[in-house]
Amino acid sequence: MDIFYALRVLQHRGQESAGIAVYNNGIKVIKGMGLAHQALKPDDVKNLKGDRGIGHVRYSTFGSSTIENAQPIVVSTNYGDIALCHNGEIVNADKIMDELKKKGWAFITSTDSEIAVRLLANDIANTGDPVKSLKNLMTMLQGSYSMTLMIDSRVFAIRDPLGIRPLCVGRTKTGYAAASESVVFDTLGGEFLRDVEPGEIVELLPGEVKSIKTGLAKGRAHCMFEWVYIARADSTIEGQLVYEVRRRIGQKLAKEQPVEADVVVPIPDSGRSHAIGYAEVAGIPYSEGLMKNRYVERTFIMPEQAERTTNVMLKLNPLKSVIKDKRVVLVDDSIVRGTTIRQIVQLVRNAGAKEVHVRVGSPPIRAPCYFGIDMKTRDQFAATGRTVEEIGKMITADSLGYISVEGLVEGIGLPAGDLCLGCLTEEYPMAVPGEKVRYQKKLDSFV
Ligand code: AMP
Repeated sequence: MDIFYALRVLQHRGQESAGIAVYNNGIKVIKGMGLAHQALKPDDVKNLKGDRGIGHVRYSTFGSSTIENAQPIVVSTNYGDIALCHNGEIVNADKIMDELKKKGWAFITSTDSEIAVRLLANDIANTGDPVKSLKNLMTMLQGSYSMTLMIDSRVFAIRDPLGIRPLCVGRTKTGYAAASESVVFDTLGGEFLRDVEPGEIVELLPGEVKSIKTGLAKGRAHCMFEWVYIARADSTIEGQLVYEVRRRIGQKLAKEQPVEADVVVPIPDSGRSHAIGYAEVAGIPYSEGLMKNRYVERTFIMPEQAERTTNVMLKLNPLKSVIKDKRVVLVDDSIVRGTTIRQIVQLVRNAGAKEVHVRVGSPPIRAPCYFGIDMKTRDQFAATGRTVEEIGKMITADSLGYISVEGLVEGIGLPAGDLCLGCLTEEYPMAVPGEKVRYQKKLDSFV
C-alpha cells in the first residue's frame, strides 16, 4: 500500500500510466493506463502481497503512451525476475537498439527502459552478480536515468553519473525506500535521509541503505526544470526546498523585470511560488485571480498539443472582481510553446483587465531537452526565431519579461556548473548528436 500512496504523492510527475511490482516468490506486477488510482484497481493493489517492491508513474519522452510501455518492466531470467522503473532518457538508446537488433535481439516495447532491462539481464547472465552488472549497465547507458530495480528479491536504486534527474532515499514506517522526491517521505510518515549521489548505486536492505560507489560520477548536471516546474513545491532537491527556490526566482524577477501594476496574479499552480516572491519585492498586492478546476490534470502531460489547448479553458476561470479595470502582472514558471499563456492573457483581458503584463520564472526555452522533458524540437518553442518583444506580441501581452539565466541560477542556489541548462543555453552536459557540449562552468559566463 505504501508504494501505491507514494505514486499518488508523485502523480504530478506522470499521468499516462502507473504500475507496481512486488517480490513474493518471484516478481508480481500490476499496471494500467491513467492516474494511479484509475490504473490500479483497489482489489488488485490489496492482493499484491509482498514486503518489498517498486512503482512508477509515467510521463513519456521516448516511446509512445501505451500499456506495453507502462512500467515497471519485468523480465524473467535464469537469475530470477528483474523489474525496472526509469525516470529519464537514454540518449544512446537508438544506437544500442540498432546494434542489438543486428545481433538478433528482439524488443517488445519502444522504450529506452526496455533496452536497459535487457542489457542488465544479459549482463547478469554473464557475471551472476547484480551489483557488478548494474555498474556495467551504467557504463553502457548515456543520458539521464534515475532507476529503481528489483533483481530477484534485492532492491536497488541507481542515479546517472551527472545526477540529471532527482532521486533520494529515506525511511518509511516499514523500512527504507528511494523516490524521485522527498515529499514521499513526508507523506508516508517517514523521514528524508539524503539525495542519491550522481553515479551511485544504493541497495535498500531491511536495516540499512547500502551505498555502492561506482567511480562513474562525472560532476553534476541537475535539471533546472525540476525546480522551475516539475517537482512539487514542498520537495527538497539537492538541499534546496523547491518552494524557496521559486520564491527567490520570483524576487529576482521583480528586480530584473519591474513593471507598474495594481495586482500580481499567479498562474496556478506552477507560477504561484514565483508570484509570491515577485509581489514581495515589487511591493504590489498579490491575489489569486484565476481559479483552477483541480480535477483537470496538469496540461503539459497530455501528450497531444490539441488536448493541451482545450484543457486551458477547462482548467482556469478568472475572478472578475480581482482583475477588472486593473493593471495585472501574470506570473508563470516558464513559457515553452506559449499556447497556454496566450490563452490565459486573453482570458484575463476578457475579464476586464486594463493591462496584462507577463513575467516568467525561467529564461526563454529555446533548445530541445534530451534528458527527460518532452520538449523535443526547436520549431515548437515560442522563443525560436523571436525576440522577447515578438513573443510578447504573440501572446498578446502588454509587456513580457523573463528571468535571466544568471538570476535563475542564483535562485536555485547551486553553482551553474552543477546544473543542466541545455534547454536555455543550447549547451549540454554531455555529447548529443548535432548539439554543443557545455563548456561554461561559472556563473559569470552567463553575464
Ligand atoms: P506552454 O503552453 O507550452 O508554454 O506550456 C505551459 C506550461 O506547461 C508551462 O508552465 C510549462 O512549464 C509547461 N510545459 C509545457 N510543455 C512542457 C513539457 N513538454 N514538459 C513539461 N512541462 C511543460
